[in-house]
Amino acid sequence: MPIDPRLPYDENNVFAKILRGEIPSKKVYEDDFAFAFHDINPQAPVHVLVIPKAAYVSWDDFTLKASDAEIAGFTRAVGRVTRELELDQPGYRLMVNMGGHGHQEVPHLHVHIFGGRQFRVMIG
Ligand code: 5GP
Repeated sequence: MPIDPRLPYDENNVFAKILRGEIPSKKVYEDDFAFAFHDINPQAPVHVLVIPKAAYVSWDDFTLKASDAEIAGFTRAVGRVTRELELDQPGYRLMVNMGGHGHQEVPHLHVHIFGGRQFRVMIG
């Protein structure tokens, strides 16, 4: 079920638990701003999620409230993960689902990185 992104941050959401190490994840990368791990239900040969370490419900929440340093640090981390996974050639796809129409299910901002195959022009 898609989340309501206007609700306050839920400290018990699954990605908060992953960040606290309360449930396991397959870590790909970590720095001061971001944590990256393999999606549990991959939709491509490479499907990695990058999440901010700080508590933001959604893309909307993040872009409204995060500092410029956090936004820069997180964005750079996404780029770094794609290069460390050697996806920059031949390319990859990024996706952020936001709220109901975006079909966001986990109420902690996450960027999906998809790679390892050719994707179609657009999604449904
Ligand atoms: P959304 O629809 O919110 O953009 O995507 C949520 C993603 O989180 C889905 O691709 C789903 O497979 C992934 N996911 C949900 N629970 C877990 C979990 O416990 N561990 C990992 N690694 N991924 C999860």
